[in-house]
Formats: sequence, structure tokens, C-alpha cells
Amino acid sequence: METFSSYHNNLQEPIKAPSDAVPAFAWTEWYEGVGGRSIVISEVQDYLHLIHDEQAPRFSGPVAGSMQPFATASEASEWVKSTARSLGADIVGVCEIEPTDIYRGREVHERFAIAVGKRMRYAEFQNVPDQRSAIECMRIYHDLGEVVIGLAEALRARGYACRVEHPLGDSNVLHIPIGLKAGFGELGRHGSIINPELGPLFRMGSVLTSIPLLCDAPIDAGIAAFCDTCKACRIYCPADAIPDERSPEAGKDHLGNNRYKVDTGKCFPYFAKHNYCSACLPVCVYNHKEWAKDFDGEPTKIFPTVVMHDPPDVCDSVEPHHRHEYPLVHRDRTRGPVPRHAVDADKL
Ligand code: SF4
Ligand code: SF4
Repeated sequence: METFSSYHNNLQEPIKAPSDAVPAFAWTEWYEGVGGRSIVISEVQDYLHLIHDEQAPRFSGPVAGSMQPFATASEASEWVKSTARSLGADIVGVCEIEPTDIYRGREVHERFAIAVGKRMRYAEFQNVPDQRSAIECMRIYHDLGEVVIGLAEALRARGYACRVEHPLGDSNVLHIPIGLKAGFGELGRHGSIINPELGPLFRMGSVLTSIPLLCDAPIDAGIAAFCDTCKACRIYCPADAIPDERSPEAGKDHLGNNRYKVDTGKCFPYFAKHNYCSACLPVCVYNHKEWAKDFDGEPTKIFPTVVMHDPPDVCDSVEPHHRHEYPLVHRDRTRGPVPRHAVDADKL
């Protein structure tokens, strides 16, 4: 068993992605494919500047010369989790990194991922897509960024090397499989993790380290099975990007189910032109807990209003090696038009 006396800050051999790993999302190519960036919101720009200018330089940093060791891996995990929560995390979990958790062509030099999640405010998603929901997405990227950076700085102050994988993007690890292995929840039809308490309205980042940690386990709370009977996100996706059926060739989730595969070529154009869309998250019935009705003192509707704009053309111009989860083959052109009207809970 590994002990803290045999601990090394970095692995001798990096963990490398397999050659058929998922490619990292190529934002530039995708935006070029839909005619460029068209959403300009000053609050969003402010958050982006903060993330790039103030947070990015702190993703890595100097490690204290003297180490304050933990007695056991269990104690280290507890310290990591309580520290993250004290910094503002809503959920924290730990898993060991595997090659399939890494984007194509990337490698990592750390053994464990500390997954950190922070919930978004349901009150900001009462009408989607909307500038309010777009700003909330960026606010949480920034605020969660502060949590993972603060956790990394606390670990370094104890003498342990680590590195931040920011929630905003260009990470080396895939947040979804990391979150599933760390016990955050189950994979929903809409392609996001659903946590039994938070629903899918949260974002994830992580801190990578080789410090010996006690790992968490994936959960089975019946959520994936529920998705097989609920189609709320599929019905309310304005771009018709969420599938009816699971896809045997899309790979398995952690419970061994075939995955539902969102059509990125349909989703992204809508996302890029309509305030980062996000409609599939607040309509998910796993938000409809008691706390969602009156969240942070602001009364909320139990189900949001989804404004269904006509979807833009699908994006088929992105080169295959840049395509991220792009199931062109599953497009059903016989299903007929998507509903084009504003809808609300009473009609579900
Ligand atoms: S973000 Fe919007 S377009 Fe994309 S899958 Fe969700 S609801 Fe559909
Ligand atoms: S809306 Fe329903 S089908 Fe879609 S992810 Fe949520 S629970 Fe699953």
C-alpha cells in the first residue's frame, strides 16, 4: 500500500490518452463552422477576462518546501473535501485517473482527480435561453474556478504539488467521466450528470494530484433508469439534438448502460446563437425538488419557460478529428419539425 513516505509529487510515467480517445472540444473550429461568435454580453466578457487574466496564472504554482503529511489516505481525502466545502464547493469527490478520462493527444502526470462541483442558481434559468442564464453559466465558471484554485493553493501550502483543471475549458481530463467515477451522479439523457440532490444544474472543475487519496465510488440512484421513461429534455430541446434512444455504439456509462448521445452538430449552432442555450438543464425534472421552488429567497416557477427559436442550420463543416461526440449517423430526418412555440410546465 502506498504511504506518504513513498509519495512522489508526480508520476514517473504520465498517463496518456488512448489513440481513439475523445478529442477536446475545438471551440475555434466550431465557432468558425457557425459563422463566428455572435453573443456579446458585457457581464460575460467581464467574467472571461477575470478567468483568463487573473485565474489562469494560478492554475499551477510553487509548492511549500516542507510537507505537512497526512496520517492516511482517508484523512487526506477528508481534509481535501472539507477544505473544498469551506471554499464554497457543493459537492466533492475523488477518483483515480484512467487513460480514457483524458482527451486525445493529452497526458497527465498526476494519479488522482479531486472533482469539485458548484450549483447554479435555478432562479437564473426561469426563461431559457436568455442573457440571465448565459451570465449565470459564466459566473459559476468564475466562482467555481476560485474554489478549485483555492483548494490547489491549500494543497501546495501543505507541500503537495497539484494542478487545476478549470471548469471553463481546455482541460486535459474529461469532467463527465471524472465526475461519474467520483460519485457525483448518473449520466442523463441530456448528456450532463444528474446529482440526486442538485439535479444537473451544476458545473464541475477538478484539481489533479498524486497525493495518496481514498477514492469515492460511482452511484446507482435509479436516475439513469428514470431517464428511459422521462423525455422532458428531449421534448424541450429547441434544436432537436437530444435522442429518443440510447446508442449501442456510443459507449457505456458507469452502470453499463448504452449512452444517450447528444447531436453536437445540432446543439452547438443553437448554443452559439442563443445565449449558450442550456434549456435542457432547468427543464430536467431532477431540478424539481422543494428547494428549487424558492431558491435563495427568490420565488421560482417549478418549470421554466423555454423559448424555442427556429434552430440554425446544423454544423457539418467541422473536421472529423475536431468533432466532439458528433453522431451524424443518428439524425432522424423523418421525425418532422420540432415544436416552435414557447412552452411551460402546465403543458408537460
Ligand atoms: S443546450 Fe439547448 S440545444 Fe443543446 S442539447 Fe441542451 S437544450 Fe438542446
Ligand atoms: S429531463 Fe428527464 S430524460 Fe432528460 S435528463 Fe432529466 S430526467 Fe433524464
